[in-house]
Amino acid sequence: MSSPWNSGRSPRQIAHSIAHSRREFLRATTGAALALSTTRAGAAVVPTRKVVVVTFGGGARDQETFMPEGQENIPLLLSELIPQATFFTQVVNRGILGHYVATASLATGAYETFNNFAAVAPSNPTVFEYFRKDLKRPASDAWVIAPSNGFNRIGESEHRSYGVGLGARVVLPKRLLGSALSPRDALLYDHLLRDNYETPLYAPDIGGDSMQLHELAEILKLSVSDFSAHAQSLASPDELSVYIARRLMQQLAPSMIWITLHDIDVAHSGAFSLYIDGIRRSDRLCATLWRTIQSEPEYAGKTNLFILPDFGRDSDEDPGGNGFQHHRTGDALSRTTWMLALGPGIRQNVVVDRPVQSVDLVPTLGALLGFASPYSQGKALTEVL
Ligand SMILES: [Zn+2]
Repeated sequence: MSSPWNSGRSPRQIAHSIAHSRREFLRATTGAALALSTTRAGAAVVPTRKVVVVTFGGGARDQETFMPEGQENIPLLLSELIPQATFFTQVVNRGILGHYVATASLATGAYETFNNFAAVAPSNPTVFEYFRKDLKRPASDAWVIAPSNGFNRIGESEHRSYGVGLGARVVLPKRLLGSALSPRDALLYDHLLRDNYETPLYAPDIGGDSMQLHELAEILKLSVSDFSAHAQSLASPDELSVYIARRLMQQLAPSMIWITLHDIDVAHSGAFSLYIDGIRRSDRLCATLWRTIQSEPEYAGKTNLFILPDFGRDSDEDPGGNGFQHHRTGDALSRTTWMLALGPGIRQNVVVDRPVQSVDLVPTLGALLGFASPYSQGKALTEVL
């Protein structure tokens, strides 16, 4: 497979081509308007605004998603979500391309530099700490649902002005499910328990303050046996994460939920068909979350949804990589991705072509919800404010 635009071109030309192709496609299929100015949307003040952030840990490439040959894999993003969204076509990640450190960077709005496979907290304050401290919100109001046990410290930084006691509650669905099962039963759930795809033998140190099974069962009003019985009906870890997220929305209705999907990263196994299945499932789960937001009274009409991959994957042309399988080269395709923003106050069916950075998310959330993010390296995206 080859990409028509990335052979012999500079990163700037490649990025331009991606943006151009997306813009033309979107204009043709949705009639989306290009945002030519950064004037404010002029939205009314939304009372008790909530936000749901969905990241894909293990991003997908353009040719399997937004390019013509990939569009069949994301029918719901294209037909249902994009027409209601402001779509940023060039979101550049200049940080380390490992999932935990990159997702932590998305959550702090600063490029974190720690070892991706270390059980450490982010150095910069997280969005959860900014939110809770400035708006005086309780611990029950900010939640992370994380794909790997190695993400257990993502909810709270080590920053001395924030940190201890100000972070999010972190749910590790695989850990919860594992603790609900006997060793014999765990074999039946093997497909839901695999911790990460890049280093299958990596066994993260689980310290930190992640949620315990019985505590969560109580919050979700779900018995441990019902939880494990329902899990058996699910096809993947991401379905388990979204199940927990929806239950959390119904039972506790927190103002800030951060979900990291990770099924796509099965690409590391080299199985292209499983990678495509992961993209299609992510497409479906994003639509499920958006529909849940519309149907839950605590969320409908006052919730913004942001969806973005943590980064991309390698191109087919770079001799230092192996195409879709990994994200090791740091080439333009592996760094350039996209973001959708939806909900009250955000213009619908609008494309923003200018390059932005993944660290711009946190200050944007701060501007929407009313908190400062003084240690973020990003800038609020005025197109959605
Ligand atoms: Zn990966």
